Amino acid sequence: MALQPALVLEKQHDLNLRDIEVPLHTGPGMVRIAIHTVGVCGSDVHYYTHGRIGPFVVEAPMILGHEAAGTIVEVGEGVTHLKVGDRVCMEPGIPDANSRASRLGMYNVDPAVQFWATPPVHGVLTPQVVHPANYTFKLPDHVSFAEGAMVEPFAVGMQAASKARITPGDTALVLGAGPIGTMVALAALAGGCARVIVADLAQPKLDIAAQYQGVIPVNIRERNLAEVIGELTEGWGVDVVFECSGSPKAWESVMDLPRPGGCIVVVGLPVEPVRLDIAMASVRELRIENVFRYAHQYDRAIALIASGRVDLKPLISETFAFADSKAAFDRAVEARPTDVKLQIRVTAE
Ligand code: ZN
Repeated sequence: MALQPALVLEKQHDLNLRDIEVPLHTGPGMVRIAIHTVGVCGSDVHYYTHGRIGPFVVEAPMILGHEAAGTIVEVGEGVTHLKVGDRVCMEPGIPDANSRASRLGMYNVDPAVQFWATPPVHGVLTPQVVHPANYTFKLPDHVSFAEGAMVEPFAVGMQAASKARITPGDTALVLGAGPIGTMVALAALAGGCARVIVADLAQPKLDIAAQYQGVIPVNIRERNLAEVIGELTEGWGVDVVFECSGSPKAWESVMDLPRPGGCIVVVGLPVEPVRLDIAMASVRELRIENVFRYAHQYDRAIALIASGRVDLKPLISETFAFADSKAAFDRAVEARPTDVKLQIRVTAE
């Protein structure tokens, strides 16, 4: 254990930058990482404002942050693919490698997974952490730490696009232009969609998504979405709907939007239970897929960013110094529609 500064959520609404004990022993198969940049995620903010997400309740002080990039400062015994000085980003979830879910390749749904900044597991808004080398990924030289810290939310988009089984030339619809909706749109385009309709109520969010070629923004305050889709697809419907808004209202009409045989990918968790017209899905053989975090996406996410095919830099709205971590969270609570991703630079450099 070592005492080091960290952004600690003591309990709901009570956030402190203070010293705390962090385990830093670099055992076999582990690496020690000097954290450079951490993104502020909606889930971090939700723990701050609500003290819980579903069954996960903050009952003891917990370090926040799970979207991180940094530099390897020590490698444990048996680690061969990483060395001191490597710039890396990390998957925040550590499954039990021998669990049935892991052996099936679905380690993201392993009930025993330990995920950064999900109670009671500490996050990484602190100068150093120890992590399994197997969940630590080298960044190419020209991919920045800031981009590295964007791999985590982008991996959710990658998982959604993979679950959709996109065919080249498909038309997709993304409901909700928040950070995750935008990441999903970018992954869908990279996955072969010819066009991605992005729907939201907030024009500033749509303007950000519309910077990307292939995105068709639709402000659903002004336009009827079903009509727009009808016009764009000659009444056929979209190949894939990605529900990223989490809005129960979105679910009222979501079944009308895919083409026969099309797919609905559930990305946003509805904030309350929703009713589904299964008959509507049944008579058109709609496929419904669910996304929980991601598995096996980091390598390909990094490859797309490195290739230049996916540029996440325009989505980084502002970067805060570590000393201003609390200010970063208070800014995130404001939920400005012009903010996509706020980041915190943990190192002084
Ligand atoms: Zn996140």
